[in-house]
Amino acid sequence: MNYGVDTVCIHGNGKRKNVDNTGSISFPIYQTAAYAHPGVGQSTGYDYSRVQNPTREEVERIMADLEHGTDAIAFSSGMAAVSAFMELLRPGDHIVATDDLYGGTIRQFRLINEKNGIKISYVDTSDLEQVKAVIQENTKLIYVETPTNPMMQVTDIAAISEIAKEKGCLLAVDNTFLTPYFQNPLDLGADVVVHSATKYLEGHNDTLGGFIVTKRQDISEELRNILKTTGAGLSPFDSWLILRGIKTLAVRMEKHQQNALAIAKWLQNQPKVKEVRYIGLESHPGREIIKKQSRGYSGMLTFRVDSQETVYRILEHVKVVQFAESLGGTESLITYPMTQTHADVPEEKRKAKGIDDTLLRMSVGIEDVHDLIADLEQVMNV
Ligand SMILES: *Cc1c(COP(=O)(O)O)cnc(C)c1O
Repeated sequence: MNYGVDTVCIHGNGKRKNVDNTGSISFPIYQTAAYAHPGVGQSTGYDYSRVQNPTREEVERIMADLEHGTDAIAFSSGMAAVSAFMELLRPGDHIVATDDLYGGTIRQFRLINEKNGIKISYVDTSDLEQVKAVIQENTKLIYVETPTNPMMQVTDIAAISEIAKEKGCLLAVDNTFLTPYFQNPLDLGADVVVHSATKYLEGHNDTLGGFIVTKRQDISEELRNILKTTGAGLSPFDSWLILRGIKTLAVRMEKHQQNALAIAKWLQNQPKVKEVRYIGLESHPGREIIKKQSRGYSGMLTFRVDSQETVYRILEHVKVVQFAESLGGTESLITYPMTQTHADVPEEKRKAKGIDDTLLRMSVGIEDVHDLIADLEQVMNV
């Protein structure tokens, strides 16, 4: 079956597995650690919840269908997903990564993977020549985030996938910002899609989760074995929350985007705003690539103001918008990347990327956009 994405968010591409006979519309939460065996050498298909649980299995089915994969593996957070995925590599392997990755992913690479003998080259993956220039004999993975956080740089997924195929290495794309509602990296040649489900997928700022999606059976099998071994699978209740969150992904994404576009345009006309980065603006340098590979822009935008004083005034006096990390929920949040998401990125690197004391990132929520603009107006234009 091939349903529209709105339908897949709610039903997946087929019928759910019938694990009970009550006809419940909402999928049950199987709050159990273990499962009784019907007889010796027999299994219901479930033995122990570290390995699999029906509620987790259901959210995995929906995600696999949404990302056009054959398997989606659910983890207890986005970082748990990244960390399990990186176990596919071995000491001495080299990876090429976007230099403007989510700060937590950079920390994972630096603190854990580099210590374990993995070599990493960070380049601006929106420039294909830079990627080609650092590919080595032992390059096993290209790891891309697009658009990036917080600078909103856009990488051409299909073009990078050509480079990966030529080299015979994997391409992983973190699709947290656009979600499968707006972008499907596997269709563009990626081998693996990474998600922090904590953000748009769950969508209500109330739980953590992560996914790895693939259509490569070898990767899926190895990752399931890693999950069984390391144990950071998504809990039954959090699986249910994410299952419920995804049901409204389509309507939320449309509204996030509509609000963000209005705010981006308003920001462009503010005297204290020096720069607005939103992939939905015609002026965005990655606009042509975005049009080619994505169906929308989501609700993430970054802007630069005239001074640190303005930053402080915004962060300390907004009323509807809240000063907090994270993104993708119903509530609008504003973040100071320099001291929050990117605090662990070395200062020199951070500054070279333009992440300095005047840069703010906003996750535009689904409130009434007039209230959001009025809120920004009252702090900015005093
Ligand atoms: C938040 C985030 C992560 C990490 O996910 P958690 O659920 O916070 O562990 C990874 N990548 C991106 C792009 C993110 O925004």
